[in-house]
Amino acid sequence: MNRRQFLGAAGAAAAAPAVAVAADLQKQLRITGLETDVLHFPAGRVFYDAIHTMGGAHEGLVLRLQTNAGITGWAYSSLAVIPGSADALQQIVQKALKPILVGQDPAFPKRLRANMWQALEYAGVQGLNQFAISAAEDAVWDILGKAFQTPVYKLLGAYADRCPVYSMCGWYYPNDDDLSQFRKAIESAFDEGFSAAKIKVGRFSLQDDERRIKLAMQIAGPKRNIMVDANQKFDVAEAILRGKVYEEMGCYWYEEPTVPYDHAGYARIAEELEIRIAGGENEYTKYAFADLISRHCVDVVQPDGRRAGGVSEWMEIGALADAARLPIASHGGGPGDLQMLLAMPNAIAMESGSYRGRSNTIEQLHMVDSAVLAPVTPGMGTELRPEYVEKYKV
Ligand SMILES: [Mg+2]
Repeated sequence: MNRRQFLGAAGAAAAAPAVAVAADLQKQLRITGLETDVLHFPAGRVFYDAIHTMGGAHEGLVLRLQTNAGITGWAYSSLAVIPGSADALQQIVQKALKPILVGQDPAFPKRLRANMWQALEYAGVQGLNQFAISAAEDAVWDILGKAFQTPVYKLLGAYADRCPVYSMCGWYYPNDDDLSQFRKAIESAFDEGFSAAKIKVGRFSLQDDERRIKLAMQIAGPKRNIMVDANQKFDVAEAILRGKVYEEMGCYWYEEPTVPYDHAGYARIAEELEIRIAGGENEYTKYAFADLISRHCVDVVQPDGRRAGGVSEWMEIGALADAARLPIASHGGGPGDLQMLLAMPNAIAMESGSYRGRSNTIEQLHMVDSAVLAPVTPGMGTELRPEYVEKYKV
């Protein structure tokens, strides 16, 4: 068979629905509607990092884009514990973004991103405005993946079919002076199969940090890594002082030693310490990451999919890190983060909770050898289970 005959045969064998979908994308696909649901979750078991209280009542927003092809693009944004934040986000999405998105072709996500920036920039594109833009763009990519019947990482140019994961498990717990709850959490993560775990530090004294790290390392043994996360707690001098101890104890990385907006401070901390500095979860847009990277503030780049930007912005941040020869590791982790990580050659890790329970999304991720396998559902894989939405919908 020569090349011409081969191409003819391949064309004839192509499934009709794929051709129809491609035609939809060329000519007809339009966003026809936007719906939102505010979710409220009741308070559960309380836990802490250096500066935050987690596990209290919290909120989130579901965003759905309808199309004329019958495809619905989903996104979900978790807003943690700020009362009223989901209502505020809903207002931005419904009043400012819906008029921009409805009637448009979802096959142009970067143009839609530019239009959304323009609509919101008077109040800044950080904070809740960026939560709104990111969620809307993620929903657009969910439409595209569903239209092409493929997980989005393949549309982005896949690099890997699995991504290493680590467990965020070593929180602070109430009444845990003997660290028995802390110990149990780390043991449980390693029993599940994780090869690395992250623990919180900085809430109390350096001596307390040392006690926590020592115990975590005892449980980990010589073959597993322990990372520490200070959640912005320290000033620069304290960050360096404690960092030298974390370094001496053999921690794999030292995350968010100080406030995210002090890039000069990060540069000083990184200069003083040998240990890898990780950061970026509270940065908004590629412009903030470009500054963070060019000033040598961090050794591990950690975009958060809600704050850093939607799929397009996240991929550009990944490429900035790649050009600086820095690894990327998502803050938080689920099917949505995984799509971008799998398309970046410099992705080293996704932050994770346990994979033992049923996930909130229809897509159920699986961990093998401390790596999570690529999602299989077409789209972003972030569509929530209907019964989950019904249960928490306001
Ligand atoms: Mg963190």
